[in-house]
Amino acid sequence: AKSSGRNNYQFFAPALRSYGFELLQWEAALRRAIERQEFVLHYQPQVSLGSGALIGVEALVRWHHPEHGLVAPDRFIPLAEESGLIVRLGEWVLREACRQNRAWQMAGLASVPVAVNLSAQQFRQDICALVAAALDESQLDPACLELELTERVLMDDEVLSTLQALKRMGVGLSIDDFGTGYSSLGYLKRFPLDRLKVDRSFVADIGQDGDDEAIVQAIVQLGRTLRLRVVAEGVEAWRQWRFLAAIGCDDVQGFLTGRPVEAGELERLWRAWRPA
Ligand code: C2E
Ligand code: CA
Ligand code: CA
Ligand code: CA
Repeated sequence: AKSSGRNNYQFFAPALRSYGFELLQWEAALRRAIERQEFVLHYQPQVSLGSGALIGVEALVRWHHPEHGLVAPDRFIPLAEESGLIVRLGEWVLREACRQNRAWQMAGLASVPVAVNLSAQQFRQDICALVAAALDESQLDPACLELELTERVLMDDEVLSTLQALKRMGVGLSIDDFGTGYSSLGYLKRFPLDRLKVDRSFVADIGQDGDDEAIVQAIVQLGRTLRLRVVAEGVEAWRQWRFLAAIGCDDVQGFLTGRPVEAGELERLWRAWRPA
């Protein structure tokens, strides 16, 4: 099947996916894709609720499959994790995001952090060396790189020294999908985090569901108390924006202020940016 457009994700036939050999074929295809560099990063703006300024971008990987078109990460990240290919893919993502952010700065755009998603598996490699190499190669200021970690990464106490080393290098650390993972809050004070990203499942029903509003409010309060910046994910409507601004959330990321787009398109948007 062909993709009908560059932003239409091709969903693989579920019937085929359930066969083991199909899975192996996809794994082989993924491996080839890494060699052939068929991946592309899209970037989504992060916006300050106070000023409306663009204060960061998140890099989100897509697979530009020669036959299936643009494939969304939910379709191949799990496979990449299972097969261990995520380590090489993640390395490419990190280098490319740093290179692109530096290129934007050289082109006169503001210096803001680019956020990169890290898989728990990448912490089994020497992630500090990899980050150092990506920064060195791109000449990007460490303050302009932010690493997004899941609660799963933080479950492991052995990552503490790694995160401390990354912190000393000057990169930002944020916790992704906050509230959906393991419920221990102890790591919030143990680990040197800068930012907390409220999962979009809590943001979706703001304005309709009092329980979700109470949860978001509690997370924002927790972030303030611990001096972490709080960004709400999945903001699609002004009612969510207004609520988040009223409770003192710092930033938003969502379709309301910009979908993930390719680098050239993001640059165009950015240059025309008018605070909301
Ligand atoms: P995530 O890190 O939570 O990224 C945010 C996801 O929410 C993105 O999906 C983004 O397109 C989507 N999103 C943003 N705003 C809205 C909104 O207003 N409404 C809705 N409904 N969705 C919104 P995407 O790009 O499909 O990525 C899915 C997940 O794949 C990411 O979730 C992340 O866990 C993973 N991922 C993406 N890129 C990478 C990567 O380079 N490395 C690793 N390890 N994982 C990645
Ligand atoms: Ca993320
Ligand atoms: Ca997230
Ligand atoms: Ca709900």
